[in-house]
Amino acid sequence: LDLEWSSKVFELSDFLYVLHGLVGDMLCFSTIERNSIIGDNYRWPHTIPYVLDDSLEMNAKGVILKAFEQYRLKTCIDFKPWEGEKNYISVFKGSGCWSSVGNRQEGLQQLSIGANCDRIGTIQHEFLHALGFWHEQSRFDRDDYVSIMWDRIQPGKNHNFIKYDDTISDSLNVPYDYTSVMHYSQNAFRNGTEPTIVTNIPDFMDVIGQRMDFSDYDLQKLNRLYNCSSSLSFMDTCSFELENICGMIQSSDDNSDWQRLSQVPAGPNTDHTNMGECKDSGYFMHFNTSAGAEGSTAILESRILYPKRGFQCLQFYFYNSGHESDRLYVWVREYTSAHPNGTLRLIEEIKGSPASYWQLHHVSLNVTSKFRVVFQGVRGSGLSKGGLSIDDINLSETQCPHHVWHIRNFTHLLNTSPAGTAGRIYSPPFYSSKGYAFQVSLFVNGTANNPFNLAMYLYLISGANDDQLQWPCAWQQGTMTLLDQHPDIRQRMSNQRSITTDPLKLSDSSSNYFWDRPDKVGSVATFPNGTRFMRGPGIGTSTFLTHQRLRSRNFIKEDSVYILLTMEASVTLTEKPEMEVPNYCPDNPCENDGVCIIVDRVSVCRCPAGDNWWYMGEKCERRGSTHENTVIVVSSTIAVFVVMLIVTITTAVCLKKKYSQRKENTESLTLEVVSILPLSTNIYT
Ligand SMILES: [Zn+2]
Repeated sequence: LDLEWSSKVFELSDFLYVLHGLVGDMLCFSTIERNSIIGDNYRWPHTIPYVLDDSLEMNAKGVILKAFEQYRLKTCIDFKPWEGEKNYISVFKGSGCWSSVGNRQEGLQQLSIGANCDRIGTIQHEFLHALGFWHEQSRFDRDDYVSIMWDRIQPGKNHNFIKYDDTISDSLNVPYDYTSVMHYSQNAFRNGTEPTIVTNIPDFMDVIGQRMDFSDYDLQKLNRLYNCSSSLSFMDTCSFELENICGMIQSSDDNSDWQRLSQVPAGPNTDHTNMGECKDSGYFMHFNTSAGAEGSTAILESRILYPKRGFQCLQFYFYNSGHESDRLYVWVREYTSAHPNGTLRLIEEIKGSPASYWQLHHVSLNVTSKFRVVFQGVRGSGLSKGGLSIDDINLSETQCPHHVWHIRNFTHLLNTSPAGTAGRIYSPPFYSSKGYAFQVSLFVNGTANNPFNLAMYLYLISGANDDQLQWPCAWQQGTMTLLDQHPDIRQRMSNQRSITTDPLKLSDSSSNYFWDRPDKVGSVATFPNGTRFMRGPGIGTSTFLTHQRLRSRNFIKEDSVYILLTMEASVTLTEKPEMEVPNYCPDNPCENDGVCIIVDRVSVCRCPAGDNWWYMGEKCERRGSTHENTVIVVSSTIAVFVVMLIVTITTAVCLKKKYSQRKENTESLTLEVVSILPLSTNIYT
């Protein structure tokens, strides 16, 4: 289980590529734009066409799509499967993780997600390169913030630490960012055990090198470079800090109101946003159930929202200091042409015993027309001393996590758990959408070999559906996310890892399939209530997150952590095969009424032909006919044959071009170095 940080090292440097790529650029563009590559021609369109190459690992494919979702949530950059556009990104499994900087305008542009690159932060990082960003420590002003220890760098790797002049690279008027997902870690390319990058402010030594998510400045830079003003999937966030309560309104169809408060005697004592740590702030909305009659109700409605994707996840924190008979209902009010005044649809009833803490709730919506989210509190029959409170609402057009593991009193666990198996805790059992039962373990103080880290592992366990399921479990992707509980979803930097079940993977210790039935390959385990079950072997990482990072951000809030879990069929099983139906090219390059279609990911012109004439050439630009060529007696059958032949040749030529281009690319690429930790097999089962 002991893992080594392995750095992938490449022979070619950013430097060579910059020389190669920028001379022409500086000649063509006199204006200095904006640690982003200068030059408009390096920009991508806001929706980037991509291809996921078959060489990619299954897990990587799923994580790439999750990385795209982060772009859609936090930036105006979107991605779409390539349909013949001139320039596109082909993501493939190369040697390590790397990308060119910016749009190289070369048609197929490669981006490598190699072995052990299949984590979301790494993929976000690579795509930031492709979008035009260098590493943060390449900024021209970096010597003001970090010291490069040249004598500790591996021989021949100095070029990874060069900086770019401000005529080549623009910092977009954003301060140097130690928290950037584009910053190297202190150990990048070290030749021994001493750091190669030392931050001038010592507190940032353990900050640099994060690969969790975009930092605030990463987003600011990207959004400036691409003139972003909105994102595809973000809808609304509200922490009720402002008196306008984000445009939410009190309905008139009720007999009570939600109140904006910072404290309630029966609880909560503080809001969730600031946990009472900020003077003159820290508000939440409260429905008092200690007064009024049974059935009295208060309705709070969001402003009108406009969906783009047709599915939403509503997240909020809920505090119940009332009675267990009190209810919170979540509705949507949908406006359609048939119902211009809106109709209410009940989404979820939230009930439960009063508790003395804030609890995170997720509610999935599937709204396709303009709508409001409606929170309705209803007083129950029991005697209440408090009421219902909500805070830190986020609404986005994203998928909700399938399961939530809420771990309370986390500081106590950190202070008392030993490193290694004795300090390991297990989640409750969950079911995947397919019906597989699974569980997650957390080593609170790390494994024996990697203390001061969170370690996390995923296991299949015996479940109710095992007789009906296929074994070994094939291509199910489990995703474990430690939630950054920042009130605004756009500023969360959660930490996430995914694992995909490979049905052919064998156990290290036996000839069994790793993901076979837990009652066949697992060992006996016991739930806290004494029920015995079987737990299969687990896969995960001993370095899920360092304790320094765990104590940063809002991972621990109100002394709780939340681990969000999703287990779903791998993308490749749900994705339709690309080539089944002809795909038409968006920009038709074909002349003479030729039809452009995508064949094996290459755009090809299908040229028209008549009884004694036909068009040929890559763009159907040349005409052939029996009048010109008297030797051939052309029948319609032969004409069709010729056209088909041309198509075949065109395809072959294009494919050849594609592959020869690929070869050139690998010789002149801007290369990436990422310290990576492979997921490891858990030997503790
Ligand atoms: Zn990089």
